[in-house]
Amino acid sequence: MISIADNVKNVSQRIQKATNFASREENSVQLLAVTKTRSTDELTIAIQSGLTQFGENYLQEALTKIDALQAYPLTWHFIGPIQSNKTRAIAENFDWVHSVDRLKVAQRLSAQRPNTQLPLKICIQININDEHSKSGIPLSELDALSGAITKLPNLELKGLMTIPASSQNEDALRSSFREMSSAFKSLKQRYPSVDTLSMGMSNDIEAAIEEGSTMVRIGTALFGARHSAAKENTSNS
Ligand SMILES: *Cc1c(COP(=O)(O)O)cnc(C)c1O
Repeated sequence: MISIADNVKNVSQRIQKATNFASREENSVQLLAVTKTRSTDELTIAIQSGLTQFGENYLQEALTKIDALQAYPLTWHFIGPIQSNKTRAIAENFDWVHSVDRLKVAQRLSAQRPNTQLPLKICIQININDEHSKSGIPLSELDALSGAITKLPNLELKGLMTIPASSQNEDALRSSFREMSSAFKSLKQRYPSVDTLSMGMSNDIEAAIEEGSTMVRIGTALFGARHSAAKENTSNS
């Protein structure tokens, strides 16, 4: 039997250890629980174990959980590929979007964000290994897209997100993380709202933190292996 409560402790310790090992400030890395395919009951255990930030990939599935868990003060992050016809529901129901990679999507999110809510927090997704199947822009397009996003009234640019190629060896993975980190630092110098580098998953928490991540997105290490493989697709297809 896996215990979500034990896993929350264990993952929090891994984060803390890696943060110390890298001589970084305490609590400078946030834990985002990735809950695609997980039930509301599983989320409730995670909430009771102290987690407040949740990431979802699929809109419909997410809306059900957001509605069911309204009683809790949670922060919801949309981290999956975005279809244009889904932007309104995303703008209305989420606090963050990590997967923005087109100006058109950013414009729609800004236009559809209700004025009664705080600006929607945005990370631009970078396709750091130029994989055909993956969402995200190459770093060469970051200046143009970040500049355009900072001019949109109902968005707040927070930083960058990446999902590196899973086939890489440790050295290649670290070099991808370092490229992200240096792009993040220069973005941060240009825009004071930028403070988030969303990078690292269950298998590479330590490497990501040592290379500068400020938010790790963790599913498997908290909740165990996912059952429905059909929902594993993080690509644009
Ligand atoms: C599923 C997913 C994760 C979590 O991956 P794990 O290996 O289960 O920790 C993180 N980020 C994104 C974008 C995901 O789709």
